[in-house]
Amino acid sequence: MKDLSSCKRVAIMGGTFDPIHHGHLAAAEAVRHRFGIDRVVLMPAGRPPHKDSDAVTQSEDRYLMTALAAAGNPLFDVSRMELDRPGASYTVDTVKEVMAMCQRKAKIYLISGADTVEHIKSWKNPQELLSLCSVAVVSRPGYSFKSLHSNIKHLKDEYGAKIYLIEMPALGISSTEIRDRVLKRLPIKYLVPESVEQYIAKQGLYRINDSILDEAELMVQSSLSEKRWRHTLGVIQESLSLARAYGADQYKAYVAALFHDCSKEMANDDKLKFCAEANIKVDDIMKKQPDLLHSFISAEIARRDYSVKDKEILNAIRYHTTGRKEMTLLDKILLLADCIEPYREDYGHLEEMKAEAYSNLNKAVVICLESKLEYTKKKNKPVHPLSLEAMDGLRGL
Ligand code: ATP
Ligand code: MG
Repeated sequence: MKDLSSCKRVAIMGGTFDPIHHGHLAAAEAVRHRFGIDRVVLMPAGRPPHKDSDAVTQSEDRYLMTALAAAGNPLFDVSRMELDRPGASYTVDTVKEVMAMCQRKAKIYLISGADTVEHIKSWKNPQELLSLCSVAVVSRPGYSFKSLHSNIKHLKDEYGAKIYLIEMPALGISSTEIRDRVLKRLPIKYLVPESVEQYIAKQGLYRINDSILDEAELMVQSSLSEKRWRHTLGVIQESLSLARAYGADQYKAYVAALFHDCSKEMANDDKLKFCAEANIKVDDIMKKQPDLLHSFISAEIARRDYSVKDKEILNAIRYHTTGRKEMTLLDKILLLADCIEPYREDYGHLEEMKAEAYSNLNKAVVICLESKLEYTKKKNKPVHPLSLEAMDGLRGL
């Protein structure tokens, strides 16, 4: 960090910065402009006492990303203070340490997003902290002004805090959203500085890192048409979202989704040949509709060629078309994600399924199976008993 000894007004913005994004930077710049700040110090938190430290990216990566972002503004800087301090870090200690580095009587401002204000009263020595610095609270979409005003009033009344509200054009970006987008391979361009975007890509942050799966991905992509690969990416995204929403394992959801259609575009004759060679049982209905076999073949390819051993994953792939008697959470997630992934063009019942997907999983899966049934009957094709058993099972829940 550059020398602060000539600074009269310094703003500190603490955060996990996992990763830093344009919401942080726009907030910091608004405060800098409003109060004529000489230097904004971005302060990545070490082991955040309020966040599960195992779930937070390595300090060094967060520090470097913050430094890259700060490099884009001559008045911004980054500090290692909290990262290098042993044990938990407290803002009051940080403010004192920064104060000691500035000109005597320098004014210190603490930059806080609207969501953070309510926590200040539970930080260490709030009375002392709020006597040492002013707080610049930046509005943040999703946080009501009403509770913000009451939190601000409380800090003023209780501690005599000097606290200012800075209204900003809404930037509904959060680090959580950025991490989720990277996991789902959605673009983060223009949401974070370009240098941060490049760093994330280069270090493979926030992705599922597994070299066998990287290889598998190339295989799956090359064996599918562009349209079906896009569908697969859609199923990956939706499965990850559903897994998060229902507390299923996101890694398993990703692997199941990646492989689910990998044999879909195999010719029917080849499907039958594959099943004969791999000892996959083909019943009469499947003989008439070899397309049903792709689920079983895809599971076998995942097992045989990519060492996917997990039975839960393999079964979710196997039964993603028909469903089965006692469906697991992962089975339901994959079957539903297949039907509602974001790139699907509208078809009967799609909106209905989407409306239920994140509130009533069983109901959404039943609608999904019913819609498949309707379609099969319309085409005068026989319905597979597995689907009927699946529906019976789910209706009873
Ligand atoms: P996460 O989603 O991991 O909680 P975050 O985006 O909230 O991350 P933090 O590092 O937790 O980022 O936040 C650091 C500070 O920046 C907090 O005071 C937070 O309120 C503020 N902040 C973050 N994003 C915005 C935004 N889009 N607009 C205004 N303030 C923000
Ligand atoms: Mg946050």
